Amino acid sequence: MPKKKPEYRLPFSGLEDGVHGFEFAIGQDFMELFPDTDVLFAPRVHVDVELVKNDRLMEMDFRFKGVARSFCDRCLQEVEFPVEAEEKVVARISSDAAEVAEEDGFWAVPEKDSSLDLAPYFHEMLVLSRPMQLFCPENEEGGPTCDPGMLAFYEPQERGESRPEADPRWAALAGLKGKMDD
Ligand SMILES: [Zn+2]
Repeated sequence: MPKKKPEYRLPFSGLEDGVHGFEFAIGQDFMELFPDTDVLFAPRVHVDVELVKNDRLMEMDFRFKGVARSFCDRCLQEVEFPVEAEEKVVARISSDAAEVAEEDGFWAVPEKDSSLDLAPYFHEMLVLSRPMQLFCPENEEGGPTCDPGMLAFYEPQERGESRPEADPRWAALAGLKGKMDD
């Protein structure tokens, strides 16, 4: 049986008012939708969505839980990082194209659509989950587990800056304190 293409769409047309639950699994096949993304890969994230539909308003509570991988900012080794987030999004089904384009603060969903494509939103959440600075985990002694060969290659050379001179007044005070302690 051919592998079914993963769907990240939330079907809203025909949904009755009330509470509905949806689940999505984001795996590596998801990343194939975004071939230009090189900041992360191999996501394994479960998304729970609770949708409350009330006429043309849809309130969605998203819960992301899982991990993804990226490269260490120091040595380029692969590092896993958590993807955990909860976010509420309100969407309004709209028949006005201009409104759909302009609305801010919530999603405006064209009435002619029958489902909401969540893939771009999921992608944004994954990318935002990557820490600004991602490093290899520390070992038991609290030291880095970065690749030493790569570190030697990438670490900037010491600039040879001298440390700031100690304030002579403090040095004098320290000397005085030493005398008083005697
Ligand atoms: Zn590293």
